[in-house]
Amino acid sequence: MPALDGGICRVKLARGELSAAQALAIADTIDEHACGIADITNRANLQLRGVKRGHEEPLIAALLRAGLGPSGSQDNMHAFADDVRNVMVSPTAGRDAGAMIDTSAIADDILARLQSDKRFTALSPKFALLLDGGERLAMLDHPHDIWFSAARDPRRDDVLFAFGLAGCPPVAEKHAGAVAAVAASNVAALTYALVHTFLDLAAPEHTRMRDLLAVHSVERVLTHVESKTGIALLRDASIERWRRAPADPSLRLGAHRQRDERRSHVGGQPVLGRMNSATLRGLARLVKDNDGATLRMTPWQSVLLTDIDSAYIAATLQALEALGLACNARDPLTRVIACAGSTGCAKSLADAKADAMKLAAHLPAHANAQVHLSGCPRSCAAAHRAPYTLLAVAPGRYDLYHTRDPRDPTGFGRCLARGLTIDEAAGMLSHAARPPIPPFDEPSDA
Ligand code: SF4
Repeated sequence: MPALDGGICRVKLARGELSAAQALAIADTIDEHACGIADITNRANLQLRGVKRGHEEPLIAALLRAGLGPSGSQDNMHAFADDVRNVMVSPTAGRDAGAMIDTSAIADDILARLQSDKRFTALSPKFALLLDGGERLAMLDHPHDIWFSAARDPRRDDVLFAFGLAGCPPVAEKHAGAVAAVAASNVAALTYALVHTFLDLAAPEHTRMRDLLAVHSVERVLTHVESKTGIALLRDASIERWRRAPADPSLRLGAHRQRDERRSHVGGQPVLGRMNSATLRGLARLVKDNDGATLRMTPWQSVLLTDIDSAYIAATLQALEALGLACNARDPLTRVIACAGSTGCAKSLADAKADAMKLAAHLPAHANAQVHLSGCPRSCAAAHRAPYTLLAVAPGRYDLYHTRDPRDPTGFGRCLARGLTIDEAAGMLSHAARPPIPPFDEPSDA
């Protein structure tokens, strides 16, 4: 896609994962064919920016050679219709000490089915699925067209998956509950049938599940899918009452023990989710140096290394910090996100990236408010509600909103102040959220 700073190439990563060889291939590719920048997206994919004019085909060919496309596409560049690979899993899938089930195999089954059916290329590139194994580290705020979330089945002391349409797994009482549940062994087949059901029932103007539910009831969708598959859906009051345990997004930063207690996952936040080729090469080196480690992108636009042996945690954290990644939630840079801004997007009214850096430099460590800077109301950097949004109104000037309210036409919540400079915004946000975030792995007395 064209943008102000050159072409943009979106690379969808299966389960957010990147091998060392793929990280090196992307580093070489962005140096040769783009401006050396890769942004992590809020769906744990990558976006390569500044693709040079005329370099589009060699760039795509290099990515396909590295296996960064749908399976079977390596020999056919024009099979790069990778628009149906939005299946989000936890970055700690298969490793999380709190998970009820390892979702990796189910996710791979879903991905294989999505990529093997030509009909699914008719889906919007934004059509998104969540497969949640009950991990402690999980993004639960992003609305998904279809979501599945692991739940304990008290009747058989087994794991089943609650699921819902056009929303998020419910955590609080006020959230809309699951519509039904299904055995873990049926999740992939049901997903396939739900996507077909969406395409069967949707009119051309319906691109997302919420559009379909505006004209068809959930009941209609479920009846259709049951008749298609014969899969028995569990539907009773206990499913409706089910609530997912809250997750802890802070586990994306620093070192935390995995299910296998000898190993940990170690995470850090590249500044504003942006990596250059040197960072990618450094991350590839860390994967190679730590036997069995994997590199994963997260929907918080950060990176996570799994399977780090206890003896190498300190060295890994040091290496991430040396690459410029913030590994501690006290660092304000872990709490600020921004869209491309006026250097990359013609719609932006301000240089959101540079202003976000300025804001982070002014925020004290105790100001734990999560802040999203957006160059226009499209909100590209955040798929979820951010507690605080600075919406650009002019170069260096922003309106400050708190908590998105559906009744507010802007969708960002209540407007607290208009036309703030970054210094003024920093002053307000410094007092916005207390008490301070406790240090990681230390007892909290807050
Ligand atoms: S939020 Fe608006 S200004 Fe920012 S990248 Fe998206 S379209 Fe551009």
